[in-house]
This record gives sequence, structure tokens and C-alpha cells, in this order.
Amino acid sequence: MIQALMVKPGEIIFQDVPVPEVKPDQIKIKMKRIGVCGSDIHVNHGKHPYTSYPVVQGHEVSAEVVEIGAKVTEVKVGDKVTIQPQVVCGTCYPCTHGMYNDCEELKVMGFQTTGMASEYFVVDAKKALVLPETMSWEHGAMIEPLAVAVHAVRRAGDMTGKKILVLGGGPIGNLVAQTAKAMGAAGVLLAELSGYRLAAAKKCGIDTIDNAKEDLMEAIIANFGTDRADYIFECIGINATMKQAIDYARKGSTIMVVGVFADLGSINMGYIQDHELTLVGSAMYREEDFVKAIELVNDGLIDFDTLITHRVKFEDYEKAYKLIDEQKDKAMKVMIEME
Ligand SMILES: [Zn+2]
Ligand SMILES: [Zn+2]
Repeated sequence: MIQALMVKPGEIIFQDVPVPEVKPDQIKIKMKRIGVCGSDIHVNHGKHPYTSYPVVQGHEVSAEVVEIGAKVTEVKVGDKVTIQPQVVCGTCYPCTHGMYNDCEELKVMGFQTTGMASEYFVVDAKKALVLPETMSWEHGAMIEPLAVAVHAVRRAGDMTGKKILVLGGGPIGNLVAQTAKAMGAAGVLLAELSGYRLAAAKKCGIDTIDNAKEDLMEAIIANFGTDRADYIFECIGINATMKQAIDYARKGSTIMVVGVFADLGSINMGYIQDHELTLVGSAMYREEDFVKAIELVNDGLIDFDTLITHRVKFEDYEKAYKLIDEQKDKAMKVMIEME
């Protein structure tokens, strides 16, 4: 089978490798779509702190089950699936306390262990989530990023009647906003600098604040009143927006840290103490988040199509990164098409 191997930042070669043997508790899947995400882009630029080369990428996927091991009962040949890409130890404190997404030995496919950028992939059946027959391959590959958003919203708690501010309109911020709305938030506002991403959020039914033109505090009060936001989701991972989150929080607001910070953050501890703010981290997802993500899509509550801006063929994998570098904010989700 052909496998895409990133040999060094920015360089992908295709190699012919044997298809691994299917063990009794494993399945063989034929890859259909692979989404490219922000973390993949960091790897392409040589800026992902926990990834070494060569690396096979691919962790946002949809695929068809083509073979199952003797002991597999969860899925059958012909099923459409997506894969939970975490490889965990199963014995550490987080793993034994229902928090395996925080495993002490966590490895993620496409980063610290082999990803799915190949014609076929062999994986433990328990990592597979069956998608509805009616779901498209593209939408199937979007379930993983949606699961990130679902996990973050669930970490926050019950959305019913709550006012939500999302900082950042990239795919994750956009999906967090859509998820909060789908899960009952009374109001959702998304602040972003890019006109393109603001328009995308609007198209997905989200109210927006143009962070380049509007005063953020005035816009928050205009939309939510002086009580401002109950929850603020930081979905960029930079100091400037974390500062905004803390400065513009109401007393007692909760700030959800969803963005991945490359630099060490420096935050206003005085405000957190004096305003009794709650700061909550959110990292990846668990199986129940995938299940909820599939349900939300099946119920027609999530717009993925606006987020999928580009499609490239598997053999043009490198081109995906070239166009991401060129298009910048206008490349939201690039899909690698396997056929
Ligand atoms: Zn990702
Ligand atoms: Zn563990």
C-alpha cells in the first residue's frame, strides 16, 4: 500500500509498504478522507514540540472497514468509521479515572505514533466509531475536530440559558460556537480578526464581533448586557486573546482554555483571584465526545460544509500545505481525498 511519509518539515514522500496483519481484536480500514489541522501544520513547519521525523500524519479521518479480526464484534465489514487517534497506557492515574485523554503516556496517531495517511490502516477495533450510513466521507472526517469542540463545551457544563463568548474563528472556535448553540446556549458571540472567518461564522448562524474594527467590551455589552459572558472560550492559544478573556470576563465567569499555547502564557492572576474567575483546560476528547459529535451532525445541528474550503488528492499531499501557507485565514479545513 502507498503511505505518505513526512521525512522532514515540508517534505512528503510516498512509499510502498506492506499492509500490516490484522490481529484478532483489530480491523483493517480503507482510508477515504483525511482532514489537515492546525497541529499538522505545526509539524509541517517543524514547530510541533512533541513530533519527530519521519512521521506518517493523519488523525482526522473517515474510512471503510474492509476486514475484521476474529474477535471483533463492534464493527462489521462495510461500516463507515472514524478513528479515535489516541494511544493510551490504560494504567496511569488519568487512564484509570476516566480521563484517558490526559494519559501520562499519551501518544497521538500522526504525531508520536503512525498516523493514517496511507491507503489502508490497521487499528484496534475499540478505536473505531461507526458513522451513520448517510454521512458523507467528508463529514465523517470532521467528527474528530467536532469532538474537540464537544469536549470543551462539556467541560464547561450545562449550556442551557448561558451566554457564550468564543475568541477565535478558526475551525475549532467555529465548531465550539456551533456546539454551544446546539447544546442550548442562550447567546453565542464569536470574536475574530479575519473577515473571511467572520463571514464563515455568520454563514454557520453564529453572531460575530469584528475584533479588528469593534471594541470588544462594547460589543459584548451591546449583545449580552452588562452581565457579559458566562463562559469565554479561548480558541487561539495566544497571550493576547487570553488577556482579553480575563480582562473582559464578568466576576464569576468561567474561562475555557481550548487553544494550544506554543509560548508560555502570562496572565493577570490578580483578576482571577479578585473576580473569582474559573479557569478550565480542555484537551482533545473521549469516546463519548465522538458519540455526541456524531449525534449533533446526524440531527443537522452542525454546518461542516462552510468550513471545508479546499480539497486535494492524496498524491498532492504537499500541495495541501502550500495552499494553507498561501491562503492563510482563507484555508479553514483542507481535505485530503484518497479516491
Ligand atoms: Zn487535529
Ligand atoms: Zn495512561
